[in-house]
Amino acid sequence: MQITLGTGNEHKVFEINAIVKSLGYDNIIFIPAQKGFNPVEDGETFEENSLIKAREGAKLSNNITLADDSGLCIDALNGAPGLYSARYAGSQDEKIKRILTELDGVENRKAKFVCCMSLVDKDGNIIHTTRGECHGQIIKERKGVNGFGYDPIFMPDGYDITLAEMSEDGKNSISHRGNALTQMLKFIDKNLSS
Ligand code: IMP
Repeated sequence: MQITLGTGNEHKVFEINAIVKSLGYDNIIFIPAQKGFNPVEDGETFEENSLIKAREGAKLSNNITLADDSGLCIDALNGAPGLYSARYAGSQDEKIKRILTELDGVENRKAKFVCCMSLVDKDGNIIHTTRGECHGQIIKERKGVNGFGYDPIFMPDGYDITLAEMSEDGKNSISHRGNALTQMLKFIDKNLSS
């Protein structure tokens, strides 16, 4: 079964299909949204933004569509950068610098990554939603070169390495995105695929 992915990010399509394959769901393939995908992400929650992206993808493709929205929420910053994770500063390097500066001298380093996924039918009606979280700590300096975004400063609970020091499979097995996607694939496999 072919499901559109509501994203303008080709890497996300690749990454999600890699997880799908590694979990053995050979019957499900995610395809990129049509050109022109440019939703206004003005929701107030990760759930709302994932739904906005899914509906835009469905409108463009006239197909069942999945979309996600994710971000990093830091306790001591009252949940920031949260919905603004992608826009917290200019480059990714500057985003990480901003967080390390804001947490300078702060003892509570607790944080979590959140990923919400929405699956809609071709008319934009919600079929299913999932949420995955990955809890951990913001460390004091960058470690590791794998992954993307804030991975080099995030150490998941129960580990003494950052997400950027893990293999792709290792990260996917504990990540917010891996978790939300696993729940979604179980639902699709059980309820939608023939
Ligand atoms: P979006 O869900 O593609 O809009 O991503 C939001 C932003 O959250 C990304 O640009 C990253 O800065 C951050 N983010 C989301 N997931 C991850 C992750 O797995 N690792 C590191 N940063 C992430």
